[in-house]
Amino acid sequence: MFFDVAVISTTLNQREREKFMTHPMLKQLPGKKSFQSGIRRAPKRNVELTSEEKRLALKNALRYIPVEHHGIVAPEFLEELETMGRIYGYRYRPEGKIWGKPIDQYPGILEARALQVNVDNNLDFEVALYPYELVTYGETGQVCQNWMQYLMIMDYLGKMTEEQTLVIASGHPYGLFKSHRMAPRVVSTNAALVGNWDDADSFNKLAALGVSNYGQMTAGGWIYIGPQGIVHGTYLTLLNAGRLYLGIPEDENLAGVVFVSSGLGGMSSAQAKAIEIAGGVGVIAEVDESRIKTRLDQRWISLVSDDLEQIAVWIEEYRTKKEPISIAYHGNVVTLLQFLHVKNIRIDLLSDQTSCHVVYEGGYTPAGIGFDEGRELIQSDLKRFKSLVNESLTMHYEVIKSLVERGTRFFDYGNSFMASVLDAGVKEIARNGFDVSGGFIWPSYVEDLMGPICFDKGFGPYRWVCSSRKDSDLEKTDQAALELIDPSLSSLHRDNYQWIKNAGANDLVVGTKCRILYSDEKGRVELALKFNEMVRNGEVGPIVIGRDHHDTMGTDSPLRETANIYDGSRFTADMAEHNFAGNVRHGMTLAVRSNGGGVGVGRAVNCGYALVLDGSKRVDTIIMMGVSFDVAGGIARRSWAGNSNALETAMEWNCDNTLRGEISIPHLADDEYLKKLVS
Ligand code: NAD
Repeated sequence: MFFDVAVISTTLNQREREKFMTHPMLKQLPGKKSFQSGIRRAPKRNVELTSEEKRLALKNALRYIPVEHHGIVAPEFLEELETMGRIYGYRYRPEGKIWGKPIDQYPGILEARALQVNVDNNLDFEVALYPYELVTYGETGQVCQNWMQYLMIMDYLGKMTEEQTLVIASGHPYGLFKSHRMAPRVVSTNAALVGNWDDADSFNKLAALGVSNYGQMTAGGWIYIGPQGIVHGTYLTLLNAGRLYLGIPEDENLAGVVFVSSGLGGMSSAQAKAIEIAGGVGVIAEVDESRIKTRLDQRWISLVSDDLEQIAVWIEEYRTKKEPISIAYHGNVVTLLQFLHVKNIRIDLLSDQTSCHVVYEGGYTPAGIGFDEGRELIQSDLKRFKSLVNESLTMHYEVIKSLVERGTRFFDYGNSFMASVLDAGVKEIARNGFDVSGGFIWPSYVEDLMGPICFDKGFGPYRWVCSSRKDSDLEKTDQAALELIDPSLSSLHRDNYQWIKNAGANDLVVGTKCRILYSDEKGRVELALKFNEMVRNGEVGPIVIGRDHHDTMGTDSPLRETANIYDGSRFTADMAEHNFAGNVRHGMTLAVRSNGGGVGVGRAVNCGYALVLDGSKRVDTIIMMGVSFDVAGGIARRSWAGNSNALETAMEWNCDNTLRGEISIPHLADDEYLKKLVS
């Protein structure tokens, strides 16, 4: 790619322009900041920039800074670019701890104050993966690109009116624009790239230039709620994997079942908590000691060792006792699997949650080298690092294959693991022996589990944040949710009932007081209306509802959320685009569209929302239109694809909504007839 700095030079008088720049916090030159020790830092993002491109990156970042400060700030920015591969503008980070404070401590209109709680919560040292680099989770998922953008966003949120919309492009606020009371207060996009350049390499360059942000799913949508957000989904996945693959009856848990995987990071650590809640024995490999410590402190794991013999003893002990336990193996997952294979120790369920969506950027540490060594190698010899990753993925594949031959059930956990193995050169992992178009030899958790069991029925990761930060608000909302679920309706309703009943006792909250609860269209609408009524009655403070994008309608991702779409439309993204349009159309407080969430740039379009419940009738209206469409639109696409659970759900929806709308229902041709006809 070639960029011409001269093109963006301007002849406008600098003084005239400065009159229009109104962000007080950026007008001052704040002091240089130090970094608190013990807080995880992002690795250097390794992108080769020409001198011309470095100048452009600097010029881009300096747009936020008054010219009189350029002499001090520009050399610092250059240093950041050279040492971190990005310009974060550390000097502009507010001093000390950032956290989601109670809503009344923020300035502005109620909706914007609630969003400020969410932004800060996503940058909390206890919540975020690399808080100084504004990375919330998933190795690269950022709230926005740099601290200057953060200050501008917070400034705009603090002063906007109820008839304005803040428009954000990859973390950069275009500004405040006049809209109306029913419009979103924030409309945001992340890493929207033009098709020809919609790939990881182009994105990495654009990010280094400071013009594109990887929002992941909920980082760029500011509604990440810590690993709890994923625990419920992981719990449902593991329970249903046990039922489907191991024949465990619906009313039993996973007692005595051994589940092995990797990753104790932002989302992957959910595996440790979820397997324990589901009653099984979990062994999770993790190369980064600091993450093991975090999860140990949170009590999400109970036992830790880097001694494989000890791990083997614990597995057999807890398998026999049928007691739940989460064990962390400090080391590489490939080493662990090879050991268990050689020792012939039975693994019932097997998966992987290394960050393979950024496999060559540090998301996957190759076997044979430690975590720190891997990080150093990325800087000193990226080519060698890549080749070690490819070798390790090949070994990883081989050992899984042998384990599967012995009876272990493996499923891909939507982290692009199988796609990365294919990219590493192992063609036989593709069903057609050469590319992803026919899928992979092993199922993904969406194809077999989440897709048919949850998404096709409209069940997805609904969540709420109690912006008062009061425990009592969370307890009251948990209780209200419990009262709305009828456990006799289905096994999923029963699982969800159990989940919310024990949610408080499971001690899952990190950061703001929030909750995740899988729910369907009807359930989500009922819950939102109930919570809004509770706000109206003064029983609880304002609540923000939202969801992970990993949902019925939120994401088009052929290797993950839409992996169980078989009408050929798996590689289209119309549904996700309509999700974004719907969230804007219906007036969600925040509507966000991002590229690549969970699987990497160019591999997904994902969208989400946040809706602030202020107790008003206006919000009731938005709930009935917006929360409903956000699910029903996905049911429409899934049923049109012929998915049987979605078809059933769509027909039920049509019966329940005769005066409100209609989902189009397909005629399904007879496959045998078509086979004969075509042959
Ligand atoms: P993360 O980067 O925070 O965590 C991944 C962890 O894996 C890191 O702690 C890393 O040190 C560890 N790791 C890397 N290579 C390893 C190796 N060879 N052996 C042992 N440990 C190793 O990312 P995350 O937020 O936890 O997400 C992980 C992946 O799972 C992502 O690709 C994400 O998109 C995917 N994912 C998760 C879910 C879910 O339900 N939890 C759903 C879909 C996708």
